[in-house]
Amino acid sequence: MRCLPALLLVAVAGPLSVAAQSHAPAAKPDHKPVAHAPASHAPHWTYEGKGGPKDWGRLDPAWAICSTGHEQSPIDLGGPVASHKARIEERFTSSPFVLFHNGHTVQAALEKPSELLAEGAKFQAIQFHFHHPSEHTIRGKAYPGELHLVHKNAKGELAVLGVFIAIGPKDNALFEGMLSRIPRHEGDSVKFAAPVDIGMLLDDHHDELEDVYTYHGSLTTPPCSEGVRWTVRARPLQVSLRQMQRLVEVLGESARPVQPVYARH
Ligand SMILES: [Zn+2]
Repeated sequence: MRCLPALLLVAVAGPLSVAAQSHAPAAKPDHKPVAHAPASHAPHWTYEGKGGPKDWGRLDPAWAICSTGHEQSPIDLGGPVASHKARIEERFTSSPFVLFHNGHTVQAALEKPSELLAEGAKFQAIQFHFHHPSEHTIRGKAYPGELHLVHKNAKGELAVLGVFIAIGPKDNALFEGMLSRIPRHEGDSVKFAAPVDIGMLLDDHHDELEDVYTYHGSLTTPPCSEGVRWTVRARPLQVSLRQMQRLVEVLGESARPVQPVYARH
C-alpha cells in the first residue's frame, strides 16, 4: 500500500478538468457488451441531462445493473482500493488501427492485438479510447483525461488497462501523430496504416514495477456489465496543454461519475 505523491495530481486543476458539459449523443456504446442487442437498437444515452448517467439503468431493462450493481466503474481510488507495486504484464505490439468517432468517444480498433496477463489469464487488447475528464479519480481528484485499453479473453471476459492523461510541459510526439489526424465528428473514421507501438504510445515502462490500482468493476458505459478486471496505472501519460485542448474539442465531456465502492478493496 503506497500513497501517490500529491504532485502528480497538480495537473488536475485548471480549465480543462470539468467545466464544459457538451457531449454529443449517438447510438453506439463505446464498450461493446459481450451479450447485448445490436447497437442500432440501443436506446439513446448521454453524459448529461436526460439520458445521462443517473438514467442509464432505466433506459433499457438490460442496463438495470448500471443502477443496481455493486461492482460498477469508475470508482475513486486511493481509499479502500489502494495502489500496490506491480508489473503491468502486457506484451505490447505495433499495430495499424482505425480511429473511429462513435459519438461518445474516439476509439481505435487494433489490428494486431497486444496481450495482457491479468490474474493469470491471457487477454488480447482489441481497442483503446479516451475520456475527458478522467473517469477514475484519486482521492477525489480527476485528471484531464483517461485512456482505456480494452482487452478480451477467449471466454469473452474483459480486462481494461486505464492510463490517466496529465498535462506536461511539452508536446508528446507519438500522441501528436494520432491527434493530428483524429476524426472530429461522429461517424468519421481515419485509418492509421503505419503500425503504432502501443507500448510507446502509453509510455509503458516495460517490466518495471509500477504503482497500480487493481479491482473488479464494470464497463463505464451502458450496459455497465460487471466482471471487468481493472488495472489503473498511477503514473499518467503526459501531453501538452495544446494537445489536451484539441482532444477535448473532439471528445467533449465523456466521463461517468464515480460509483460507490461498496465491499471492494
Ligand atoms: Zn472507457
